[in-house]
Amino acid sequence: MAEILKGGPVAKALTERLAAEAQALRENGISPTLAILRIGERPDDIAYENAAIKRCEKAGVDVKLFTLPRDAGPDDVLDAVEDINSDYGINGCLMMRPLEDKSMENAACLLLRSEKDVDCMTPGSLAGVFSGSGEGFAPCTAQAVIELLNFYGIPLKGKRVCVLGRSLVIGKPLAMLMLAEDATVTVCHSKTEKLADICREADVLVAAVGRAEFVDASFVREGQVVVDVGINVREDGSLCGDVDFASVEPVVAAITPVPLGVGSVTTAVLAKHVVEAAKNSMR
Ligand code: NAP
Repeated sequence: MAEILKGGPVAKALTERLAAEAQALRENGISPTLAILRIGERPDDIAYENAAIKRCEKAGVDVKLFTLPRDAGPDDVLDAVEDINSDYGINGCLMMRPLEDKSMENAACLLLRSEKDVDCMTPGSLAGVFSGSGEGFAPCTAQAVIELLNFYGIPLKGKRVCVLGRSLVIGKPLAMLMLAEDATVTVCHSKTEKLADICREADVLVAAVGRAEFVDASFVREGQVVVDVGINVREDGSLCGDVDFASVEPVVAAITPVPLGVGSVTTAVLAKHVVEAAKNSMR
């Protein structure tokens, strides 16, 4: 039986700490505030928005919503980003991505002030993650993986970590965060040969592949820690991860569930970044 690494306790501990920090900021006249910019009515965006609002409430972070219709043009979106940039009461911005219009998304990312970029939208934040300079904020989901492993005392220093997936929002930045933890990192993708063999070699396997229950028992071995970043919807409407939990859990030492795993920590990390951005604004 594997240890089940639930996200709830991690998010709870982080949120309690943030609530105290947010209260201290309020006493200094600063109310940590997150702007959420959503274009259209995609159900997964709305679900994430609701989860973020709930978490921010618990962490003492205010939320301002900027919602635009699905057919909003570049001027509308860029105006909204300008409003967020120029509002001194807003410390951080979460823009629901991806947008249907990639060039509009890129323009919005470039326009956002770097100090309000709490989810690594801007090239400057990404550069900070890749250079290890500590500037900017890492993508919340990638950072949530690190928070979760640290919370459960899972060592990364000197360990072999395999990140399955190389997207710019999860796989690549997570590989950099793992390197910063002194892990030895392998990044796999759709062209990787002998994928299951490589995954089995790792001490910690992170699945961020976007394919329902893709990682089965042939990818894992005894003693491994498996982190499932995936969020997929089965045909019957239920949620599952990128890992086939039923076949993998009996083999490995520890595994995150889906739901109630990494996803629960992501919104807590978002709130953490807003509180840090608010602290930075005092400097
Ligand atoms: P993505 O942009 O679609 O990237 C998927 C990655 O997996 C790509 O690098 C792709 O390789 C690789 N891949 C796809 N098929 C593969 C295969 N058959 N063998 C090996 N590699 C394969 O996805 P993403 O945005 O990184 O998201 C990954 C997962 O995380 C999704 O399930 C998403 O829903 C979930 N997610 C979770 C959270 C959270 O808070 N927990 C937040 C955001 C996203 P190539 O580069 O070669 O195409």
